[in-house]
Amino acid sequence: MPSRMGIRHLFSRPPSKSSPWQANLPCVHSHTDGCTNHNPHHSQIHFDPHLLPKATRDTPSTRDMPENRPSPRSHRPRDPPQEVFSALPRTSSSGSLALLPQVHQTIPYSLAFYHVHGVMSQLRGGVRPQLSRLACGGTTGAGTRWVVTPVISRGTLMLEYALVFTVETGDWEVRACGHVRVGVRGGKVRFERRVMGRREEWYEAREVEAMCCERCYTDAGLRVRTVGNVVVLEVRINKDLGQGLHPDDPKWLAAAKGVDLKREATDFGRMRKRFQDLRTLEEERAGFDEAD
Ligand SMILES: [Zn+2]
Ligand SMILES: [Zn+2]
Repeated sequence: MPSRMGIRHLFSRPPSKSSPWQANLPCVHSHTDGCTNHNPHHSQIHFDPHLLPKATRDTPSTRDMPENRPSPRSHRPRDPPQEVFSALPRTSSSGSLALLPQVHQTIPYSLAFYHVHGVMSQLRGGVRPQLSRLACGGTTGAGTRWVVTPVISRGTLMLEYALVFTVETGDWEVRACGHVRVGVRGGKVRFERRVMGRREEWYEAREVEAMCCERCYTDAGLRVRTVGNVVVLEVRINKDLGQGLHPDDPKWLAAAKGVDLKREATDFGRMRKRFQDLRTLEEERAGFDEAD
């Protein structure tokens, strides 16, 4: 059982007795990479190429820079660097480096098992988990906005991907999980599902509020909104990644490797509802602030 101090420092500073190694933030794929929150000025940031599969390393960043980017010479106080340390075995054979598949090729977010383990270890140690390390977002060259939000609910880590495309983006597709793809083709919402080697495909003329995978813990939905004169398509993908105890956890294997499990129908929509409730709570709180 690690000491309280050991867990406290798992993500912030390495404890002296064990030998944790420094890991990458999920949005860092090169030495000057990172989302607009974690590395807004594309400064030098910790990056270890051995932690990522070859194909995802040093990919040219397609993220837009923030418009109010200050000149590099301006002397503004810097935010403390956000760092991630892990004490798990640093070999891919142990599964601790296993990654979630990318939901869309333009979204540079690589969550590994050691990230899940890190925040959940903090929770088990009675320390406030540093979820901001895993919360990312940005825009891509294809005009896509993406935001990843992590929450811990009933002892498991849940993740929401919120992606926004405009109608001008044309046909596109995102991979909600190892079994389900969702997108738009010819102006219609398109779903594709692969279960036990069988492939099903169908189209909906309208938006689809919720599509729950029967083979892993993923809920997905697509909503059409009009903002001013622009029609935007909003995709939400909600995942339950498990307790982060061991990379062989069936929930993690289903999310990261698409290993089939049997999800009970009574569980459908659980993650989606959790994030919806959080948004409602935030809106209510904002209303209170305005009333004050
Ligand atoms: Zn980030
Ligand atoms: Zn699935």
